Parts: sequence; structure tokens; C-alpha cells
Amino acid sequence: MRTKLIAAGTAAAAMAALLTGCGSSDDDKLTIGIKFDQPGLGLRSGSDYSGFDVDVARYVAKELGYEADQIEFKETPSPQRENMLQSGQVDMIFATYSITDARKEKVAFAGPYFIAGQDLLVAADNTDITGPDALDGKKLCSVQGSTSAQKVKDDYSTGVQLQEFDTYSKCIEQLAAGTIDAVTTDDIILAGFAAQPANAGKLKVVGSPFSEEQYGVGLPKDNDTCQKVNDAITKMIEDGAWQKAVDDNTAEGYTPSAANPPTPAACS
Ligand code: GLU
Repeated sequence: MRTKLIAAGTAAAAMAALLTGCGSSDDDKLTIGIKFDQPGLGLRSGSDYSGFDVDVARYVAKELGYEADQIEFKETPSPQRENMLQSGQVDMIFATYSITDARKEKVAFAGPYFIAGQDLLVAADNTDITGPDALDGKKLCSVQGSTSAQKVKDDYSTGVQLQEFDTYSKCIEQLAAGTIDAVTTDDIILAGFAAQPANAGKLKVVGSPFSEEQYGVGLPKDNDTCQKVNDAITKMIEDGAWQKAVDDNTAEGYTPSAANPPTPAACS
């Protein structure tokens, strides 16, 4: 009898734990997806994380009630973002993540918190790649699952040889080694790579953006945080912290599009 009671008690406790989501420390941690290899946006150096996305993430997390030590950063490469939100591996994503209708079928977005534009990165002495219409016969690199690779396939595919990796840093290695002619993605990402000391004077952003990329905060489809995230972004823009984050993380010579700072869109 005694054993049975204990067993029943244990079962009830286990059930209660299940119902409350295990009652573990999960409740007071926030898992945020960022890029780990994009200088100026989301960069991991040992146990340090830096960049504009990281600064916005920390500000928003704080507004949601999470201190810096309650944030766990996880790498969310471009091809895995929707999947990592859908499977609950991350609670939210700040990773140069453009809001698109196709992605909205799987995930939700707060924001936008920044507007970028697709551009090209080439060797500093390159003169013939002046824009996306001058890519015939060229070897171009981009990332799987990005709007950048998709745009090339949709609008500029004739004659260009597109190679796709899972991160932009791999494309940059190829460009620096001279095995490809150009890298395409958002101007702010390319400017961050060009400003790296190792690339100084070697690479240049072409400088004629040919898309509008609205960076959103990726959230699971069913969420009750979108409005709170939007309120935090609005506050960050109004109190000057957003401008400081832009200034702290972008290189001289990079000017954000005049569409900045954006106004977050209504949560659906
Ligand atoms: N903003 C674009 C996108 O979300 C390109 C940058 C990236 O792949 O993170 O696809």
C-alpha cells in the first residue's frame, strides 16, 4: 500500500512536471538564433557574441524580462532557420532574416528592425562586375535557403554559374582565394566582411543594391511575443539604442538605406 502511494505520488509529480513543461530552468532561459560567422551582425569569438543582430537581440530580450546571462545563443544558418523555429530548437531568431511570404507560411515575424539590400562583393581591382546584369560567365557564390540565392535563380540566372554553401564565410574564403568572381547577399553583410582586417583593401562592395531585405525577428507561428518584440524594437529606435547599435557595428563607408529606421509591421 505504502509503495503504491509513493508510486502514485511520483506519477502525479511526473505528470505535473510534464504539464508545466518540466518545470526546469527552460522557463527562465531564452534561446536565440543568430549567425556565428557574420562580422558586424552575428559573430562568435570564443564565448563572446557581437554584432548588430546580437545588440538588437539583447535589447529585445531585456524588454521581455531576460538578463544577458539568461540568453543562450545558438547558430541558425540560413538553410535551417524555419526548421529550427518549427522544431522549437530556438525561441526566436535575429539572423539577417528577411521577412518573406514564403517563410511566413512556416514561421512568424516581428519587425522589421532593419532594411538592407542585396548587393555584390568582388575583388578590389575588379572593374567588370558592376551589377547583377554583368554576371554572364561569372562564378558567383551565395548561400542555400537565402533570398539572395533565390533572386539570382529567379531574375539573373542566364549565364551565371551559381555556387551555394551553407554560410557566407565559406563564400568569402573562395573569393579571397580567387576561385570565384563574386559573392552576393545583403549589402550590410558584405560590408562587414570587406571591413575585416584580413580583407582590408582586397574586397569591395559594388554598391548598387537590387532588392529590399526587411530584417524580421523570426518567431514560431503560434506565439504570444510578436507584439512585445515590436514594442521593444520601437522603444530601441526611439531611445537611440538602435542608432548606437548601427554605428557600433557597421564599418565606415557603409550607409544604411534611407528606409531606415523602419517601423515594425502589425503582428498578424
Ligand atoms: N537576408 C537574406 C535572407 O534572409 C540573406 C541573408 C541571409 O541568408 O541570412 O535570406
